[in-house]
Parts: sequence; C-alpha cells; structure tokens
Amino acid sequence: MDKPLAGALVWFRRDLRCVDHAALYHALKVAREVWCAFVFDRDILDPLLEAGGRADRRVEFIHDSVLELAAGLRALAARHGLAAAGLIVRHGRAVDEIPRLARQLHAQAVYANHDDDPAALARDAQVRGALADAGIALHTSKDHVVFERSELLSGSGEPYRVFTPYKSAWLSKLDAFYLSGYPVERHAKSLAALPASEAQELPTLESLGFEHTNLHQLRLNGGSASGEALLRDFLSRIDRYHETRDFPALKGPSYLSMHLRFGTVSVRTLAREAHARMQAGSRGAANWLAELVWRDFFHQILHHYPHVAGAAFKPEAGSLHWEHGRHADALFAAWAEGRTGYPLVDAAMAQINQTGYMHNRLRMVAASFLVKHLGIDWRRGEAYFARHLNDFDLAANNGGWQWVASTGCDAQPWFRIFNPVTQSEKFDPGGRFIRRYLPQLGALPDKLIHAPWLAGPADLAAAGVELGRDFPRPLVQHDEARVRTLARFAAMKAAR
Ligand SMILES: Cc1cc2nc3c(=O)[nH]c(=O)nc-3n(C[C@H](O)[C@H](O)[C@H](O)COP(=O)(O)OP(=O)(O)OC[C@H]3O[C@@H](n4cnc5c(N)ncnc54)[C@H](O)[C@@H]3O)c2cc1C
Repeated sequence: MDKPLAGALVWFRRDLRCVDHAALYHALKVAREVWCAFVFDRDILDPLLEAGGRADRRVEFIHDSVLELAAGLRALAARHGLAAAGLIVRHGRAVDEIPRLARQLHAQAVYANHDDDPAALARDAQVRGALADAGIALHTSKDHVVFERSELLSGSGEPYRVFTPYKSAWLSKLDAFYLSGYPVERHAKSLAALPASEAQELPTLESLGFEHTNLHQLRLNGGSASGEALLRDFLSRIDRYHETRDFPALKGPSYLSMHLRFGTVSVRTLAREAHARMQAGSRGAANWLAELVWRDFFHQILHHYPHVAGAAFKPEAGSLHWEHGRHADALFAAWAEGRTGYPLVDAAMAQINQTGYMHNRLRMVAASFLVKHLGIDWRRGEAYFARHLNDFDLAANNGGWQWVASTGCDAQPWFRIFNPVTQSEKFDPGGRFIRRYLPQLGALPDKLIHAPWLAGPADLAAAGVELGRDFPRPLVQHDEARVRTLARFAAMKAAR
C-alpha cells in the first residue's frame, strides 16, 4: 500500500532508543522517508551551565544515549540494506531547530512522544505553532507510560486521586494490546539517508560545554544496551523484590529509574516482564509492577492537576507555615550537606551527593526529616532533589515530596512522622549502608550506629568517634521536632 506521506521527521526527546518506540513506528508506517533528530536543547542546558553545572551526570547519560541511538539507527538501516541513515543532532534551541530542520527536509509531519512536564508542553506548543506556519503537522503519541492522561478515569469520569483504586483500574485495563511493543523493525525500510550536508561526527560532551562526571565509575552508562543489561540482572532477582526493596544495603531494586527517565528502556517491556511473572505467582513482580503503576499515577496527577508543580495538591496545605530566615537556611544547608547528626539521613544525603541516586526508602526518610523534623518547606527539598537526582522526573519527584509532606493527594497522614532512628534500626539493621557512606562511624557497634549520641564515652572512644568533630551532634531532638510538626499541621487544620 502506498504511504500517504513523502517525508517525516522523528524528534527524539526523553525516549532515546530505537526499539519499541511509538513515534518512530508511527512515522515509519506512514512516510516513505523518515529522518530522525535529537536537539541538545540550549533552553535546558544553558541554565545548567549558568548555574555552574558543567559536570552533570544526566547530560553525560543523554550524550552516551544519543551516540548509541545514532549507532542503533545506522545498524537498523543497514539490516534493511539501507546506507547512511542515522541521527541528525543539533545544539541549539529546540523551538528553533526542529521547525527549521523540518522545513529544510521538506518533511510533511514531525512525530514525537508525549512529554507532559509543563515546560515541555509549552515548548511543544511553540514548536507546533511554528510548524503549522509552514504547513507541517506535529503528531505526538503516548510512549513514556503505560496509561496516561485521561485513559483511566473513575466511574464518575474524574481523574483518580487515590492510588489503590487507580491501581485496580490500571490492572483491570491492562491487556496484551497495552503491553505489546511497537514493531519498528517491520517498517524500517523507510529510514532515510542522512542529508549530505549533515556532519557524521556527533558533538562531544566538551563541545556542548560539559565535562565528564563519575557516571561511568558508578557503572551507570547511557543507552539501551546498558538498560537491557540492568533489566536482565534485575529479572534474576525480581521474585525477591518485596523482601529486599526496603533495605538500602541490599541490591533490591532495579536501578532502572534513569533509563526509564530518558527512555533508553521501554516501559512496556518492563511492565510485560513483570506482569508475566506476576501472573505466574511472583509476589516480588507484583510489588514491582505496582511501582510502575505509581509512576503512571503521578504522571496523570501532574497532567490533571498541573498546579502541583509549585503548590500543594491540597489547597489547605498552602496555609502551612514553614520555617524561614537565616535559621531555616542553616538547617537546610545542614540537611543538604549531610550534617544532621542522624546517621541514616546523613548517609542518604551522602549517597545522593556522591552518586545522584538515593534508595527509595531513604528518599522517604530524608525528605520526611527535612519537612517534619526541620520544618522546611517541601519545595526546597524538591528543588534540591531535582538538581541532584540522576533520575529526576518532575511527576515522580513532586509526587514523592508531596506524599512525604502530607500535602499531596493520597499522601501520608500528617500525624505520621518517620522516626529516623527506628527507620535506621529497621531498614539498615547492621548499619552496612551507613558504614558505606559514613566510614567515620564504621567502628561503632551495630546497635549504636543508628544514634551515636546515645553511645557512652567509652564506646565512642573505642570507635574513635568524637561527636562534634567526627560526626555532628543531632540537629534537633526527634520528640521536640514531632511536637512542633503536629502543632504546625494542627494550625493548618484549625485555619480551614
Ligand atoms: C521524595 C521522593 C522523591 C522521588 N523522586 C523521584 C524522581 O525524581 N524520579 C523517579 O523516577 N522517582 C522518584 N522517586 C520514586 C523512587 O524513589 C524512585 O523511582 C526509585 O528509588 C528509583 O530506583 P529504582 O529504579 O531502583 O526503583 P525500583 O524500586 O526498581 O522501581 C522501578 C521503577 O518504578 C518507578 N517508581 C518506583 N517508585 C516510585 C514512586 N514512588 N513514584 C513514582 N515512580 C516510582 C521508577 O520509575 C523506578 O525506576 C521519589 C520518591 C520520593 C519519596
């Protein structure tokens, strides 16, 4: 059958792979010639550089992934007897580069996958307008999540605001259709040769203004091959996920979040693998699939309630009085630099500061400490995580912070306040995680490592620890902080 379009351009963004890719599949299916492009977007990268962030693991990960994507497209074309296909790479403003490129190529349409972050939606609206001026269509599709936007609504046609019924609806709607991948290979013959004017050399990280980080030392590599290797490794232990996931010293979770963030793995592949194992009775797989449901849940929350990016989901939480001024700034700095005196919190902050990753249990404990022990506005913590997390994703990060701060939909009740010491005793019982990040506490016995200030002078001396010198004294007392937080939330309730 004749294809209706002569030429189309696929614009890659947070979907850096060439297998099971919705936009690529749709374009290849309808167009006789398909070009692929990626823009290192100055609107995103320049502010990072201006803030002094030349060493950014995320940019390096994207750069790795773009190189691999270009090679993957060349290999895909070669398997179909086509020469010189590949990826067109630009360094500029996407809002200018994509319309310009589409015009140069005489593409009739541009294909991309949805990105529901408010800034991405604004960018896409601008690109759509510029393309429309040239008579070129912009088609976008779901790719990043299993269910999105209004695909799942409650019986009354409202978005779900509570996770459990959302999860039930998600699982009931899931079937082979939603789990099957897009067979890009089937239509690959439409991949077009790169225009002669296109440089074959892709930009280096340095030419983009960035430098290498410790990404590779951390054994984090961009690209689908590395994502697939992590998945294979995780599938060998997924059945134990429910038992291991909460213990940061164990290799429990998948560590796939960065790959999910940048689309180097397909969420459909992940959901399919987990679902099949769940059907076969794996509790670990069922628990893990539920995490992918949380991911969809927060994405649909951001879509339906975009005010959450910047404000509490619950309007009454807008009246909460947070600590402010120089004292609050000092508390915030101590938290960010891992100087709270609570070993699990400080080890968690060391993990994010050194690696850009933080275990999920620790994200909850560290975030809760900032909000409910130090009384600092959750948005300051959210912004810190956004700057430092390799897997930063607005929907998930905002959802996580608002859950912890009790300001979100289906959030933790406000009177529930994690005790960082009991969390530490429960989830890092032997102190292995703490010792990894706080070696100065390494010689303390297991039972004292969670709260060194409770150790007697002899124990501290035997472990070579002097409080205030080797490790801070606790910044706040748990019981006092708890009372202050309960009062803060009680005042909010009274003001309603
Ligand atoms: C305060 C806070 C901030 C967070 N910020 C982010 C963030 O910016 N980006 C991010 O991807 N996740 C975030 N999370 C969720 C979660 O901590 C991470 O997804 C997880 O730790 C990533 O590690 P993993 O891939 O090994 O997870 P796994 O346990 O293997 O989970 C698999 C995948 O499920 C998804 N997922 C797991 N838990 C959640 C969750 N609670 N909400 C949404 N998706 C989830 C992630 O995509 C993750 O990669 C945050 C959680 C909290 C409490």
